[in-house]
Amino acid sequence: MWHRRPACGPEPAPRPHTVNAPDDWPASDSLDDWDLLPTAPDWASGIRDEWEPGEEGARKRLDAFRDEAAHYEGRRNLPSVEGTSRLSPHLHFGEISPGAVWHATSDKGGSVATFLGELGWRDYAQNVILQFPDYGKSNARDRFDEFPWRNPNRGHTIADELQAWQQGRTGYPIVDAGMRQLWHTGWMHNRVRMIAASFLIKHLLIDWREGEKWFWDTLVDADYASNAVNWQWVAGTGIDSNMFVRIMAPLSQSEKFDAAAYIRQWVPELADLSDEAIHDPSDELRPQDYPAKLVGHREARERALDAYSEIKS
Ligand SMILES: Cc1cc2nc3c(=O)[nH]c(=O)nc-3n(C[C@H](O)[C@H](O)[C@H](O)COP(=O)(O)OP(=O)(O)OC[C@H]3O[C@@H](n4cnc5c(N)ncnc54)[C@H](O)[C@@H]3O)c2cc1C
Repeated sequence: MWHRRPACGPEPAPRPHTVNAPDDWPASDSLDDWDLLPTAPDWASGIRDEWEPGEEGARKRLDAFRDEAAHYEGRRNLPSVEGTSRLSPHLHFGEISPGAVWHATSDKGGSVATFLGELGWRDYAQNVILQFPDYGKSNARDRFDEFPWRNPNRGHTIADELQAWQQGRTGYPIVDAGMRQLWHTGWMHNRVRMIAASFLIKHLLIDWREGEKWFWDTLVDADYASNAVNWQWVAGTGIDSNMFVRIMAPLSQSEKFDAAAYIRQWVPELADLSDEAIHDPSDELRPQDYPAKLVGHREARERALDAYSEIKS
């Protein structure tokens, strides 16, 4: 428990009273003329509903969260609860600084230190990239270069499974809920990011770089450093502790972190199932429009550990 106000840099400088604009603006295109927003189909409505880009939106998120920061530890792992700040896209785009977030929350007591620690992980990721600019593309542990990922060069057809993961049709409710949340809102709860990433890497034995690319394309907080560092952490290929053998069991994680309401929200096919059944619907209860599991948990676990034993020295 945190008893003293943790140290940080100085308070952020106040907003300037005026910013001098040039007398003559240079000629420029109008942003609207670039037609960047999707129209046919308009797949971005969920993203628009969820986020207010810009400094004002960042400030509102911070104001809504600052009194919650004291309860962070107890809530941050529960996907059904809005227990985290959702400041990540604003931090990524520089709409608010980590220093401003720190100073607004650090005196809140309770478990705020855990929250401040997460801001520290963000800095850690930036530092890793400064030292290893290739981190998003190359295994930091060289021996994973020989890892027998399933891939077309080895005669495996992974395209369908990769697509099922991307579209939230793996047959594992917690994974599917996360992947659909990502597609609709551009954001996914951190606990579910870990579960979904572990599932791709260890249950499907697909190279972490495929997942990194998909998150990069779909996250509103997509950040080269945080994305690469977290993918390599889950894969065990990074400079931090080797996590490969920690194979998350998606079904028990879902139960443990009480994800029933979250699954109902994002996988409506399962909405009528009870809290007990929804994490791992039996064959009798599994609705016809919800897919069977791509692979069984025990079988996947053994396959992953066998693959790992090929490179373990
Ligand atoms: C596979 C995977 C990929 C990820 N990719 C990204 C990414 O591209 N961009 C990104 O910002 N985060 C990424 N994360 C980290 C984390 O999931 C998000 O930062 C967090 O979910 C954002 O939600 P929040 O703002 O509510 O976080 P909070 O829990 O409120 O945390 C506050 C801030 O701390 C930082 N933070 C929290 N957790 C982490 C972490 N594990 N690593 C680095 N910084 C962290 C973020 O800036 C976040 O906004 C990834 C995690 C995993 C497991």
